[in-house]
Amino acid sequence: MFKSHRYGLITSIVGIGAVILLLLVYRNLAWHGLIDHEIKAHVTLTQVFSNTIWPRYAKFLVDASRFSKAELQRHEIIGQLHRDVGRYIARSSVVKIKIYDLTGITVFSTDLAQIGQDKSRNSGFISAKNGAPVGKITFRDRFDTFEGVIVDRNLVASYIPIRISDSAPVEAVFEMYADVTDLAVDLAEHQWQIVFWVGGSLSLFYLFMFVIVRQADKTIQKQKEQRLEDEAKIHYQAHYDALTGLHNRTSFAQRLEEAVKRARRGGRMLGLLQFDLDHFKLVNDSLGQSAGDQVLRTSAKRMQACVRESDMVFRTGSDQFAVIMESLRSTEDASRLATRIIKSMAAPMIVNDQDLMVTVSIGISIFPQDDLTADMLVKNSDSALHLAKQEGRNQYQYYSPSMKQQALERLEFESGLKLALQHDEFVLYYQPRIKSESEEIVAVEALLRWAHPERGLVPPNSFIPLLEEMGLINSVGEWVLRTACQQTKEWHEAGMSRVRVSVNISSGQFRIKSFVDMVQDALDQSGLDAQYLELELTESVLIENIDSAIKVMNDLKQIGVSISIDDFGSGYSSLNYLKLLPFDFLKIDRTFVKDLATSEKDAAIIKTIAALAHSLRVKLVAEGVEESRQMEFLRSQDCYEFQGFLFSPPVPSAAIPDMMSKQVVRRAV
Ligand code: C2E
Ligand code: MG
Ligand code: MG
Repeated sequence: MFKSHRYGLITSIVGIGAVILLLLVYRNLAWHGLIDHEIKAHVTLTQVFSNTIWPRYAKFLVDASRFSKAELQRHEIIGQLHRDVGRYIARSSVVKIKIYDLTGITVFSTDLAQIGQDKSRNSGFISAKNGAPVGKITFRDRFDTFEGVIVDRNLVASYIPIRISDSAPVEAVFEMYADVTDLAVDLAEHQWQIVFWVGGSLSLFYLFMFVIVRQADKTIQKQKEQRLEDEAKIHYQAHYDALTGLHNRTSFAQRLEEAVKRARRGGRMLGLLQFDLDHFKLVNDSLGQSAGDQVLRTSAKRMQACVRESDMVFRTGSDQFAVIMESLRSTEDASRLATRIIKSMAAPMIVNDQDLMVTVSIGISIFPQDDLTADMLVKNSDSALHLAKQEGRNQYQYYSPSMKQQALERLEFESGLKLALQHDEFVLYYQPRIKSESEEIVAVEALLRWAHPERGLVPPNSFIPLLEEMGLINSVGEWVLRTACQQTKEWHEAGMSRVRVSVNISSGQFRIKSFVDMVQDALDQSGLDAQYLELELTESVLIENIDSAIKVMNDLKQIGVSISIDDFGSGYSSLNYLKLLPFDFLKIDRTFVKDLATSEKDAAIIKTIAALAHSLRVKLVAEGVEESRQMEFLRSQDCYEFQGFLFSPPVPSAAIPDMMSKQVVRRAV
């Protein structure tokens, strides 16, 4: 991974190294400058010496090697020269002078002890003898000078040729030591200052740069990590379902396509199973979304536990799942899996401290026997799923070619439904509600029918869920309400006794903000007195959002309409809520009434519901009353109204006036 601060650090180090190198070069140049300067000074001094002193001693010194060392050291002329030189170099930086004859013998030294030493091999001497002055700088911790011993000194030693003029031959060689300690110390000090300031500022600069670059690096790194994380998240969201952790619909389409290709290439069978949780909407509506989520998660886990490692489970819709089974050996493999899943789903789920029974319907299609494309496999398993639901749910069905026709018909049915309102194909039927006391029709329930151009009268259960799914329930519901109000007002105006009308309200309608205004408007438009309108709400509609339900119900009570709770006992009702809701009628679900005579349990339930209604001071209504004995039992439970085939099925509006005038309602009687 590219890390700019590392490169920054390296360039910084290289930069600092370069500066140190420059400083070393500078130091070297400075030392050479110093030596050059000293040599030049010494050449001048030598010239002066050559002009003033040398002529007097030249003759003796050039030939001095004829004397022994001891003779020379004690020689008078040497003593004289020693004094002259002493005067000459007094108070100058020169601390020692030596003179070599051309054979390299030290014929004179301010340090007399050195006289007689042979320096013929010394490179400085050789260079000077050849006419080129040279010098070098040395450090001496102890040095004998003309004026005594000096310590810790930087000395420049120069070898200078002695000659009368530049073109004259070299007669001897001078060695001159000059003390340059002060200069050297100054130089070193300057160097250190330069090192300190340049190095210090550079280091600070690089440190600063380093911090900035590293910070930038960190930011870039963080952004990179964030981007990778975001990408992973986006990828996850695009391919997985957040709630169950299963692959989602997008993933499903891709994987199925790939699996079909593989199966085709390998000549293998492939099974596609599509699942739909039965009555999931009811769970969601009555127990709330978090309970619904829990059911979905548990279902997903159970399905996953049933499949083989090579099978993939997907969540393809809100309560829809799918399994792709690759390498099927036979269709039985798919049946076995379907049975396993149905069984595993049969165990109760504990949601909100309640035992929930969640079942599943499954549709299966098989490649290659059903069809060849992924698309068709999906459509076919969909059709099979539809059949499984139609056949009573909690089961699996295989696709069969006849389903194709059914699927087409369903599509046609749906598109017909879209236009039914415009084409005036909806009609209201009315079912009388009989007061237990007087056995008179006191109310009618408006029940929707679709007068299908080909199929005839279609009952609401086969299209109301579709209207809800298609988002059409509000407009159709509004039509029902307005039509029922108008019709009832017409009956009133026709002089019929004041009959009440009850209208079923779906959850979608009830949730609309302007619902109460719409009810008021329907009353205003029709001129129907509010006391003759009753709205039927199911428990699930109310429990979905209890606070807002209470508010809307209070607003409805305010405008004077009555409210009944329909199909009571069929949903996941919570009795706790019931006492909070302002309603007038409790309609027992007809499934309890149906088996009343044969089921003691149902009788007990009805007794309990009746007691509940009385204690809540609401009127009890029984629907689905088909037999006299049912009526008698319900009457014994103080049931206020009856509704059912015993009295009349739902009938067209035109039939009602006749019934009302004759009060001929009890068929059985
Ligand atoms: P519901 O509100 O419980 O209506 C009573 C249903 O029971 C009606 O079915 C009625 O025909 C049926 N029924 C009445 N007496 C008997 C009997 O003695 N035995 C049996 N077995 N059934 C009886 P329908 O008309 O098919 O309506 C079914 C459901 O459709 C209604 O149940 C209601 O929930 C819904 N529905 C009907 N019209 C509308 C509507 O305009 N809007 C909404 N949102 N839902 C409606
Ligand atoms: Mg009803
Ligand atoms: Mg009902």
